[in-house]
Amino acid sequence: MRSAGGFYTVQTPQARLLCTLVKRLRRGERRSTNPLSIGHGVMVRRTTDDQGTIEKIAPRRNELARAAPGRAALKHVLVANLDLLLVVSAVRDPAPNPARLDRFLVIAEQTEIPALVVVSKIDLGDPAQAEHLYQPYRAAGYTVLLTSAATGAGVDAVRAVLRDKVSALVGPSGVGKSTLLNAVQPGLRLRAAAVSERTGRGRHTTSVAELIALDAGGYVADTPGLRGIEPYDLDPAMLDQFFPEMCPYLGGCRFAPCTHVHEPGCAVRTAGAIAASRYDSYTKLYEEARENARRRGTPGRGRYV
Ligand code: GDP
Ligand code: ZN
Repeated sequence: MRSAGGFYTVQTPQARLLCTLVKRLRRGERRSTNPLSIGHGVMVRRTTDDQGTIEKIAPRRNELARAAPGRAALKHVLVANLDLLLVVSAVRDPAPNPARLDRFLVIAEQTEIPALVVVSKIDLGDPAQAEHLYQPYRAAGYTVLLTSAATGAGVDAVRAVLRDKVSALVGPSGVGKSTLLNAVQPGLRLRAAAVSERTGRGRHTTSVAELIALDAGGYVADTPGLRGIEPYDLDPAMLDQFFPEMCPYLGGCRFAPCTHVHEPGCAVRTAGAIAASRYDSYTKLYEEARENARRRGTPGRGRYV
């Protein structure tokens, strides 16, 4: 439930325990800076009424990670076992940034976390325009929730999707994540993220990460660093699969493998399967992923591990 400076709060069916990790687990995975994050399932030996030792970490379904600050080869796990990622984007203030939104959605696809798009501050714009702008995401199969914490529009829908799930909200600073959550449940605030973002000291803040319980059931992750996640270890050869609207066409390209960038007879491009702005994000991410893979020395591995 909570991770702070080597102490972990674990919720068992019986109690809430403040725990440490047994020594052999402290080093964690080879390529990770933290052995354990919020959201993980663990096995605990209870030592006192309210304390324990974590002796085992259960296999995770998924994890949201970012490159460790200043150590790009290592990852820092932000939260494990997410049921839902809400990618938040404002109608205005800040202006919509489709490239950024697409990056978050690619991360969700890559890490196998179900995602949906939350459009915030619809009171600041023309609803028809917002609908038009986010149509490509509906076409790709994503649920798009139009919301306004100011008018209350869509707040019930957000409350409904959060219910009984472990979720995280991502999106740039100022899009209204904390305000929206506060509308969903008065008093609920994203403290950790807010602090690190406002002071601009995100990378130096000792990270306290927490799952906040929702009254209706479920949890929302409150962890610094969510704003700065970037695709990690993205395999260029798999990127097309992370754009759901491209998937039905992937077998139809003349060349295999097809990058869908320059090859003739590309089914994705001939079919007009993907909106221009989404395709733009694809090509940029493709170039970036290829460059990173080249640097890592694993170009075209064809498999994301
Ligand atoms: P966060 O950084 O994503 O958590 O964003 P905040 O929740 O701190 O909101 C940033 C700013 O946007 C604040 O000044 C909010 O008052 C404002 N804001 C948030 N939601 C809405 C909304 O639905 N409508 C309007 N007009 N402003 C909003
Ligand atoms: Zn193609």
